[in-house]
Amino acid sequence: MNYISTRDKSLKFSFKDIFLRGLAPGGGLFLPSKLKKYSKEDLNHLSQLNYNELATEIIFNFCSEEIKKDELSLLIEKSYSCFKNKEVVNLKKIGDINLLELYDGPTLAFKDIAMQVIGNMYDYLEIAKDKTVNIVVATSGDTGSAAIAALSNRKNINLFVLHPHNKISNIQRKIMTTIGGDNIYNIAIEGSFDDCQKIVKELFNEDSFRAKINMSGVNSINWARIICQIVYYFYSFFKLKNNNVSFSVPTGNFGDIYAGYVAKKMGLPINKLIVATNKNDILQRVINTGEYKPDTVKPTITPSMDIQVASNFERLLYYILDEKDSRVESLMKDLASKSLFNLEKKEINKIKKDFEAVKVTDEETLSIIDEIYNEHKFIIDPHTATGVGAAKSFKNLGDIVVLGTAHPYKFSDTVKKATGKNLDSPEHLKLNMDKKEIFDIVGNSNSEVKNYILGKIK
Ligand SMILES: *Cc1c(COP(=O)(O)O)cnc(C)c1O
Repeated sequence: MNYISTRDKSLKFSFKDIFLRGLAPGGGLFLPSKLKKYSKEDLNHLSQLNYNELATEIIFNFCSEEIKKDELSLLIEKSYSCFKNKEVVNLKKIGDINLLELYDGPTLAFKDIAMQVIGNMYDYLEIAKDKTVNIVVATSGDTGSAAIAALSNRKNINLFVLHPHNKISNIQRKIMTTIGGDNIYNIAIEGSFDDCQKIVKELFNEDSFRAKINMSGVNSINWARIICQIVYYFYSFFKLKNNNVSFSVPTGNFGDIYAGYVAKKMGLPINKLIVATNKNDILQRVINTGEYKPDTVKPTITPSMDIQVASNFERLLYYILDEKDSRVESLMKDLASKSLFNLEKKEINKIKKDFEAVKVTDEETLSIIDEIYNEHKFIIDPHTATGVGAAKSFKNLGDIVVLGTAHPYKFSDTVKKATGKNLDSPEHLKLNMDKKEIFDIVGNSNSEVKNYILGKIK
């Protein structure tokens, strides 16, 4: 399978290329040149598989030239052996909500599901065999810890994690800054997540720096993350044994919900994909009005969604604009020069065929957590609560699966505020509360981050 760039489809890359690079030359995102389309019979066969078998089948479509199927199967099994649940994810009925728990991995958020596989792919693809790879990643709180858990102490790999200083939860920070080995560097940037992501993207686009440090990336713009996330859409759809299924997805960078869109393009008959946002509602605005205009980031009780530049949206645009790479490029140029772009009515309508979008405020999120606790004695995290809130806006959609993106313990302070309850640490979290946190505070500029990295790897 070949990969192209959303801004230039004449470019050709292998899976290994795109795995290592993360971002296409010129700033576009990678997409496969074509997608596997499953027939009804194929879907019937896939519905019989357990999670690891299903993951092998689906992921293999995207890397069959580099990874043999039986070895991919072993890699996946190894990746998920640290999960609390043998089936990796868990679909639960809470009242009339179908909750898909995606937080049984080592760092309590759905990011573990892709990151564990990616960690093992670095080894399998021998990306760091002869030369040390320096991975630089921006996190709004959960990608960082998942990447650290997956890459800690791997040979010839250093990991630099940029998180927005003082803008993530205490437990998020605690996990990130205490579980890593000597190859992990936590950087608290004096800025927002968007600033962190911008720095990482710009460093990737600086060819000389990227080459100098042999730089690689594991942000949600990395296609390998998306392909691992496609799996649980299929898995939960099959579990429901119902043909009218929609998904409600707490959304920030548009990676997780985009995986659902790809599942639909591959033939899974999903009805609607519901984007749940917090006050940082750029996606809600673009889907309902066509104007994509980043605002300044406002802090909320759902910090992993405090994002205004939803990078993966570019991958949707590519398909909405009928694969016209030149139009994607020109919209992205508008975004860079005028800080916004506008979609045409017919393009908005095309998006609305597959997507709905709802903004959920902090007050609503708190009251949803409280309500679910009172009615069902079950606790959800604030991000998951935005997904529940968005799902509630739709009465006639049939079954809606809400993606449970994080374990409530990761956001204990907010859960306590909503319900009055103190939460115990789940058993599968191996956290030493007394361990000293290790991170460095660095200014919000490319040069300061570059100097920091160069200082650590010399
Ligand atoms: C990352 C994250 C999200 C947002 O996912 P995107 O792929 O960035 O849209 C939502 N909830 C939690 C808990 C997360 O960690």
